[in-house]
Amino acid sequence: MNYIDTLILGGGIAGLSLASFLDKPCVVLEKEPTFGGLSRSFNMNGVCYDIGPHIIFSKNKEVLDLHTSLVQTNRIKRSNQIFYKGRYVKYPFENDLYALDKEDREYCLKEFLHNPYETYDAQNMLQFFLKTFGEGITRTYLQPYNEKIWKYDPSCMDTQMVERIPKPPREDVIKSAEGISTEGYTHQLYFHYPKQAGFQALVDAYAAKAISRSHRLKANAGVSKITSKDGKWLVESNVGTYTVRRLINTMPIHELSQLMVMPDHVTTSLLQLKYNSIYIVNVQVKRDSIGDHFAIYLPEKDIIFHRLSKLNFLGDAYCQTNGGSTLMAEVTFRPGSYLAGIGEKEISRRVLEDLETIGFISGVDVTDVQVRHEKYAYVIYDLKHRMNTDTILSFLRAQGIYSVGRFAEFEYLNTDGVVERTLRLAAQLNQE
Ligand SMILES: Cc1cc2nc3c(=O)[nH]c(=O)nc-3n(C[C@H](O)[C@H](O)[C@H](O)COP(=O)(O)OP(=O)(O)OC[C@H]3O[C@@H](n4cnc5c(N)ncnc54)[C@H](O)[C@@H]3O)c2cc1C
Repeated sequence: MNYIDTLILGGGIAGLSLASFLDKPCVVLEKEPTFGGLSRSFNMNGVCYDIGPHIIFSKNKEVLDLHTSLVQTNRIKRSNQIFYKGRYVKYPFENDLYALDKEDREYCLKEFLHNPYETYDAQNMLQFFLKTFGEGITRTYLQPYNEKIWKYDPSCMDTQMVERIPKPPREDVIKSAEGISTEGYTHQLYFHYPKQAGFQALVDAYAAKAISRSHRLKANAGVSKITSKDGKWLVESNVGTYTVRRLINTMPIHELSQLMVMPDHVTTSLLQLKYNSIYIVNVQVKRDSIGDHFAIYLPEKDIIFHRLSKLNFLGDAYCQTNGGSTLMAEVTFRPGSYLAGIGEKEISRRVLEDLETIGFISGVDVTDVQVRHEKYAYVIYDLKHRMNTDTILSFLRAQGIYSVGRFAEFEYLNTDGVVERTLRLAAQLNQE
């Protein structure tokens, strides 16, 4: 049996970045053959793609600087559009109301300027949208798009995710309805993307940094059981059993719960947590009619995917040598739901059909299609999310298990948020 001072479960960005920040040697166990978790990339005929294009951006300058110093990146100006009733509306929606037809434009502007919901305290996501944007923008875009991505009614979701969205300035919305261009969400106006190898380049950089600090990273090392004895943890995995002083979890808490005994009230909370899985459908085509745009958001219900991205936008390394394009459609689904049951083949058939129906591609131009799905994609902030998550995390804390990362903390964290947390945890552990 091996004795290890610090063991990290899971080799996604959380596990790898944490290891790279730790001073004392540690071991990372990852069940998959490749490190990276949700941030890993795949290859399709020479073009790398992620699980939903993973762009590098952050309000946190320390993390942004760290990421752009770890990998060589292209700095890219956003060109995202909303596709609504056959028209392109520049993202964010409220900054391009002029692109709507006259009736929708008036509806959105008037309800924003004379908003009867403005003075209420928002108790849920839908109420927040009504309060902040008015009925027009909410019913035209925000509500249908959010229903589509979350597969959950926004009136049954809390405001944790949206409460930091600022109210758009009145002048900007008026200008946007008059056809004068303005920009919203300026912290995402420019973003970075690795010049080569997709987002995996960032994963690999963290892995290299961790190895250079003498940490051991083990792939194909699924953890199968965790017990405690004499104040130490016994961790069984398919690469051996370890006795561990300090245990850090970065795996989804649902996976962790299957490896150790948890009291009934914690299991009950776990069962109540809600999350979405995702299908990624990659379509390579000889030509498309999308133009030079990166991400297109599709709020309309009769189109199966909520977002379409054109990977050519990310740089030369993401263009096919034959001049064609690689498009990625994303379809979320809740485990056990109707969409979960229809399978990859049917999803890709529907994606192709919808792409053709809305005129983005012609079926005869398709050269290849690849589909993947991921079980843990998006945390759903349903009305009991905070209470249930706190119950589970306080149980783990009481056991002395640290839990850090997107599904380990069950929060909507992008990689910058994850690294913010691992930097903080590493500072604490390095001082102990
Ligand atoms: C569609 C989509 C788009 C996104 N876009 C962006 C973006 O543009 N920019 C951005 O910064 N972030 C983005 N994110 C978020 C980003 O992917 C996550 O924040 C990040 O990858 C989470 O890392 P993590 O290490 O916390 O978790 P994970 O990546 O989930 O890592 C957990 C690891 O634990 C491993 N594991 C599970 N069970 C076991 C076991 N029994 N034994 C050992 N290991 C195990 C898993 O294999 C996995 O590698 C996006 C996410 C999605 C789903």
